[in-house]
Order: sequence, then structure tokens, then C-alpha cells
Amino acid sequence: MLDLLATDHDNPIHIPGSIQPHGVLLALSVHLQIVQVSNNTREYLGKRPQQLLSKPLSYLFNVEQLEAIQQCLKEDFGGVNYLHLSLSTLEGERYFDAFLHRTSDTVILELELTDSPSPESFSSIHALTKGAIAKFKRASDLKEFLQLAALCLRKITEFDHVMVYQFDHDQAGEVIAEAKREDLPSYLGLRFPNLDIPEPARELYKRSSLRFIPNFAVEPVELLPVENPITHEPLDLSLSVLRSFGSCCAEYHQNMDTTGLLVISLMKDSKLWGLISFHHKTPKYVPYKIRASCEFLGEIISLELANKVIQEKADYKTKLESLRSEVMESISQQEDLVDALVQPETRLLELVGASGVAVCLNDDITLRGKTPNVQDVRSLIAWVESQGIGNLFYTDCLAKLYPEAFAYKNTASGLLLLQISRIRQYYILWFRPEVIQTINWAGNPQETILLQEEGRIRFSPRKSFEKWQEIVQLTSEPWKDSELDSALSIRSAIIGIVLKKAEELAKINLELERSNQELASFAYAASHDLKEPLRGIYNFSTILQEDYASVLDDEGLEYIETVLSLSVRMENLINALLRLSQLGQAQLQMQTTNLNELLQEVIDVFHASRQQNLLDIRVPRTFPTIECDQVLLNEVFSNLIANAFKYNDKPEPWVEIGYLNINEQQEIGLIPKEQTLAPLVFYVRDNGIGIQEHHHKAIFKIFKRLHSQEKYGGGAGAGLAIARKIVERHGGKIWVESTFGVGSTFYFMLSVDC
Ligand code: ADP
Repeated sequence: MLDLLATDHDNPIHIPGSIQPHGVLLALSVHLQIVQVSNNTREYLGKRPQQLLSKPLSYLFNVEQLEAIQQCLKEDFGGVNYLHLSLSTLEGERYFDAFLHRTSDTVILELELTDSPSPESFSSIHALTKGAIAKFKRASDLKEFLQLAALCLRKITEFDHVMVYQFDHDQAGEVIAEAKREDLPSYLGLRFPNLDIPEPARELYKRSSLRFIPNFAVEPVELLPVENPITHEPLDLSLSVLRSFGSCCAEYHQNMDTTGLLVISLMKDSKLWGLISFHHKTPKYVPYKIRASCEFLGEIISLELANKVIQEKADYKTKLESLRSEVMESISQQEDLVDALVQPETRLLELVGASGVAVCLNDDITLRGKTPNVQDVRSLIAWVESQGIGNLFYTDCLAKLYPEAFAYKNTASGLLLLQISRIRQYYILWFRPEVIQTINWAGNPQETILLQEEGRIRFSPRKSFEKWQEIVQLTSEPWKDSELDSALSIRSAIIGIVLKKAEELAKINLELERSNQELASFAYAASHDLKEPLRGIYNFSTILQEDYASVLDDEGLEYIETVLSLSVRMENLINALLRLSQLGQAQLQMQTTNLNELLQEVIDVFHASRQQNLLDIRVPRTFPTIECDQVLLNEVFSNLIANAFKYNDKPEPWVEIGYLNINEQQEIGLIPKEQTLAPLVFYVRDNGIGIQEHHHKAIFKIFKRLHSQEKYGGGAGAGLAIARKIVERHGGKIWVESTFGVGSTFYFMLSVDC
């Protein structure tokens, strides 16, 4: 595009050994003795080079001019200083715009002819630029601002075509704004490969903010002598305003139909952010005043550019921050973390600018927006985990790293994965679709070929700048830093809030435990104390029945009989309550227990208490040995077996006691219902009366009975509540499956460990 590295005939870019002919160059010692000159002094100064070399500068300029030069040298000398000089020649008085700078021990004075008898004042430059500056203020965003800048600069300079290039991370340049003569082709949106401006050229653009080549068609003017007699090296022209150009650079621009060129550097944070390039079809001389205006505007644009870029980033950041605090508020207020995250779903998507999201908590995956399916998300997480990532993983070309993602490139070419907790398996995955990008290159970038010839680098400039399209696939929009920050801060919010909630829960549990204990000891004390007056009622009723039977009529005797049976029943109830509160308080006595022996004991007791031939107890296979509280488990089986016979109206009642391992549980579909996996689930099955489904939960509550006392031998309604308490004390669960009128199966498991 612009200054290319020199070809193999040329010297390196900053020491070309020649200047452009629109001015004259004098290299001076620190004592202002002329040591090198450009071979065109006669034309400008009326003296041949040989007449000038080794002469003091006073040979050319009068005392006043010399003083001005001395003064200029004393001033702040970071770059190139401007001054206005005049010279009396045979043809009369000549005026020059002069540029003074220093390199090593050499002072370089460059002179360009001007008509103006007085120096260019800042006010004349300001007059040219103030209109543009006023317009810049009106631009609302960066694009509009740069577009305005291109228009204003074209107006001031009257170049055919003014383009603003921005460099991307690969240092390729893209034309993002332009102002041009209507009949010229537009380069807007075209990209220029990074090789168009090699590193040495970039370095020079950083050092001096303006480059001016009025005519590519002219021959350079050599410096005499070739070597600087002070340094014995070619003269360093890095900051020279007249520095000549390489033949390759000229060829490149001629291919672009450009003869006159001006370039201003745009800097941001001390880096070359972009360039404003002015092209003219025919030679174009731009007087110093206008160049200085452009340079000045370039500086203003650079400053404003930094502001605009910062502002745009800040606006987006503020938006993300407000979304973030909304999400955080939801998380801290809502019970359900997934709900808090995904409602409303757009918020979680906007938080990082994604089009789909998957929230994975343990095994549960919630999808919102456009995403791959659950199975794909699961495999994707497994793959990312296998890559050993940190808390954040992101890519804008997933399928290139993980070929399986090709199948869902339309939804997830971009992935941003946030790992909230690896142990708990908490992840949030955001997705972006494939954006097929058409990159419009200014000519085929492959044509800027780098040739290596005898250790030297050579560029072959492209012949055509016709739009050349490259299609980039399998990529999404890249993730911005602010979006990554947003994701990370959500992570810390979730961790903070979840931890806080866990702590609160632990506190509540502790309080609950304490009040449970209080309740249990209250129930124990109350039932214990109730027993004493009850015994009194029972005893006195017995006395009445035995000793006063003669004075009571039949009705009175019947009442006493009722009081007695009610007090027996009340004692049973109190005993059940006592048993239940004891169970809540007592420590479990865990022992290795052979369940076959335990069951045999239970069965023996049943046989002993009933007529042997009436009890059909089936145990289809031997039981394993497990860890449990033997006495309590005996009680569970006893209660269940007792009920199995009690609630049975069949002529041949039977009960089956057995267990299911995991495979068997899965086969009959037991696990999905119970959710928790346990290696063993025990069961007691009968062919009894069965239980209607709406009672399946209630029967485990204390004193809940489904029948009157007169039916099925009565009862306290505590057997199943006690069984449930025991099972839960072991860390397990009990439930029933039943078909009314056919029979019931009571299942229980003790804990997930056995
Ligand atoms: P109780 O047997 O003393 O009434 P439970 O707590 O043992 O108390 O049982 C509660 C209720 O559950 C019983 O009253 C009965 O209606 C019902 N039930 C318990 N086991 C069975 C069973 N195997 N078949 C049918 N119903 C039963």
C-alpha cells in the first residue's frame, strides 16, 4: 500500500542515499559546516555541490538567518522543527520553508521553496483546521467520526482519494472510511495484507507522523558524498521530510494508479492504530501550510480516536455491568439457580453477546436460545474438561479445534465455557453461530510475494487491486475482553451467593436439629407423664369393675368396660409415641449383620405366636450381610410382615421377603421413581387387600390408619411411621407400590452405601 521495503537494488528504507527533488538537503556538522548535500543545490540555492561542501553555513545564509537556525536548534528538539529562511540568489530573493532535525552528530536542514516572504503562523494553520475540528465534535460514533475526518481532509488538501485504514491484530489494514472523487473506485471495506507495510516502514510511520511523496514519477536526487564524513555511514534519513522512496513502492502505487501521495499516522496508546492515506492520480505538490494542517488534524484525530474507542468500549462495558448486576440480584433472591440465570433468557445471552446458552448444574442441562442438543453439550463439556482448561475457555472457531462441532457449526462456531465448579459439575456454555465472513482484499494478498535473494528480502508488488474475496468459514464473531470479564464476574457472583446460601442452610439445619431434639424430648416427657394418670384411670376402673359390680347396672358396667378398653388403647398410643421419640434420639448401633439370621429370628417369632400352617412366608433367595442397627431393622421387617398378614383377606395369605440389586431395580424401573441409587432395595410383598394410591404417602404418618378399630384387628397406626423413622435414621427411604384388592409391596433402602 505504502512504503515498501526497498528492493534488492535499493538501500534499506531509512538510508536510501537520496531525496525527492521537490527540495534540497544540507547535512551539517554540529558547528554548522556543510558535510553532505543533495545533488540539486544549484537549482535551489544557485551553488554547485562542490562549492558548498566543507563550507560553513554562513556561506549561504546571513547572520540573521544563522541566528534563527541556532535558535531553532536550541529549542525542544524531539522531532523536526520548522523555520522560514530566505536567501539572496542571482535570480533575486528566495524564500524557503525549512525543516531542521538532528540525527547522531549530524544536523539535517531541508529546504522547500515557498512564495511566502514570512513564516507560516499557527493562526493560518488554525484557520484551515478549525472548521474540521468543529465538525468532529458532532460525530456520534467512531465510524462517523472517521468518515467526517476523511471528508474534511480531502476538502483541505484536494486529493482525489482520502482513505482511513485501521490495522487489525494481524497488522492487516482495512479501509474503514473514505472520501473520493466520484468517478474513482471505492476501496471502502477492502483489506490490505500486512506485508504491504512491513515492520521497518511501520517503525518510520510511528517516528514521523507525515510522509509526503508529491510525484512517484520523478528520479531521486543523490546525496554527495554518498557516505557521511562524520559518521562514515550513509546518512540516516528516518525523519527527513524529503526522503526518497524505493522503486518497489513507486511500482506498487503506480499499479494503484497513484502518482501523488500523503500519509498521516494515527496513533493510539503509543501504537500505530491506523493511517490516513491521500492518493492523487497526477503529481500533487502540497504546500507546507496544508501539510502542517493535516499533521495537526492527524494529532487531533488520534486523540479523539482514543476517546471514541474508549467511549464505545465503556458504553458496552456499562451495559454489560448493568446486566451483570441484574443477574446477581436474581441469583441472590431466587431459590432456584437455573431460574435465576435463565429468566429472562435474553439477559444471560446479552451478558456476553451470545445467541445460545446451556446451563449445566450436575447432570441437569438447561438450554436457551440457539444451542447444540443436550447430548452434544455433554460431549462438548467432556472434551473441554479433557483439555485441562482453567475457569474460562473460549474460541471463535470451535470446529477447527473439535471436529465433532462441525455438525452444529450453525449454532456453535463460537464457544465461551465458564466452569463454576468442577467438583459440582457446574458449567455455563455460551454459543455463537458461524458467521461466514467475506474478506475483501485489495487484490490477491498471495501476490505480495516475499522473495529471498542472496539473503535479502524482496517484495513483488501486486499488479491489481481489484476486489479479491476470501471466504472465511467455521468462525464466529470473536469474544471481546469485556464479554470475557462479564462471564468471569458472573462466576464469582454465583460462587459467592451459592456459598452464602450453603452457610445459611447449614445454620438453618443446626437450628432445625436443635428444635427437633427439643420436640422429641418434649414428646418423651409428655408421654411418660401421661402414663401415670392413665394407669390411675385403668386401676380405678378395674376396682370399680371388680368391687362395685353389684351396685352398678348393666349400662354402668358397659361404660366401665369402655373406659378400660379406651385406656388400653391410649396406652398403646402413648407407647407408640414414646417409641418414636426414642428412635429420634437414640444413637444407631451399627453392626455387621447377616440378614439371613436376622430374618430367621423375625420369622421364628411369627411362627411362635401364630398357628404355623397359616403363615406362608417366602424368602426366594439368600440375603447378603450388611451394616445396620440389628434391633431396629428387626423392628422394620417385623412391622411390615405383621401388616402383610394383618391386612389380608385372601384364603391363602402369603408374604415374600426379598431384595433387588441395581440391575434388577433398573429393569423394573424403580430408580427413576426414587432417583437415588442404592445398591440394595429390600421389599416385603403380600397378596393382601392393597392400598389405594392416594393413601400411599399418608400411611407412613403417625396414627394414620385407613380402617376402623373394629376391622383387621385394630392398631395404633404407628407401625409404618416407626419403620419409616428407622429407615430414615439409616439414611434411607421407604415407599409402597400397591394394587388395591391385589396386594402391596413395601420397598425400602437403607442408605446409598448399602
Ligand atoms: P396399624 O397397622 O397399626 O394401623 P401402620 O402404621 O402399620 O398402623 O399402618 C397404617 C395403615 O396402613 C394401616 O391402618 C393400614 O390401613 C395400612 N396398611 C399397612 N400395611 C398394609 C398392607 N400390607 N396392606 C394393606 N394396607 C396396609
